[in-house]
Amino acid sequence: MNTRTPPPADAVDIAGALAWARTQIDQMDARVLLRHVLQCPAARLVAWPEHKLVNEDWANYRSLVERRVAGEPVAYLTGTREFYGREFMVTPAVLIPRPETELLVELALAHFAGQRGVRVLDMGTGSGALAVTLALEMDTPDVIALDRSREALWVAMANAAKLGASVSFVQSDWFAALGDEQFGLIVSNPPYVAAADPHLEQGDVRFEPRSALAAGPQGLDDLAEIVAGAPARLIDGGWLFLEHGYDQSVAARSLLADAGFAAIASWTDLAGIERVSGGRWLGRRG
Ligand code: GLN
Repeated sequence: MNTRTPPPADAVDIAGALAWARTQIDQMDARVLLRHVLQCPAARLVAWPEHKLVNEDWANYRSLVERRVAGEPVAYLTGTREFYGREFMVTPAVLIPRPETELLVELALAHFAGQRGVRVLDMGTGSGALAVTLALEMDTPDVIALDRSREALWVAMANAAKLGASVSFVQSDWFAALGDEQFGLIVSNPPYVAAADPHLEQGDVRFEPRSALAAGPQGLDDLAEIVAGAPARLIDGGWLFLEHGYDQSVAARSLLADAGFAAIASWTDLAGIERVSGGRWLGRRG
């Protein structure tokens, strides 16, 4: 018997649906997708295995499992991804927030602890994960989030509204459409993957917006543009923190040094990889 043939609708309970899905996709993904269809907490799947699925739920579940088999990321199938303990809406218009990007939040909180009213700029906000989290975690910040993509800004705005974060949004290609305001903190998780990196053709990444991932031959084009433009947008004593690729910390520090930043450093993510670099702007000297 072909295990992939779905059981008949009138026979499908939670246990049967999960057993069928597990023959094709990761077990955790199978559970997350079923929770999404049934809109139920994880405990329900365990506590009520004999609960029968109505036909519509079973059909929806089968279609999600098939799309997962075809490679679509779970976050796009459920439309959500957790970041820093909050649930963000995601669509294929935005990069799916990654756990390593939480390092940017931690650095911002550590460097601005106890400071009120810091002006914050998030460049290339995507889902708004960074801007919304900083707006909610910092003490009375004034947060502006920009993105070139109008579709991404819609998602980010929806997240700010849903999570009750006060963030202003600007459609801008990096600094192009930004006024002449200055900030105490600039953060960015820009595109930083080399355009020819085979990673772009693999797994979940294939479904994410290429414009949020790829940045020129070495993946450094956007990092370079942000670092070059940041001094004019930072107050004296302001900080710039940038996420970058696993092998780009030396290049990122040298961009920061060339632009005249002080206190340049890199910080490691939970995997021990130098994932964020940054520096402090102390004004133009010499
Ligand atoms: N870390 C992501 C990846 O490797 C890339 C994110 C980015 O370009 N900002 O898929």
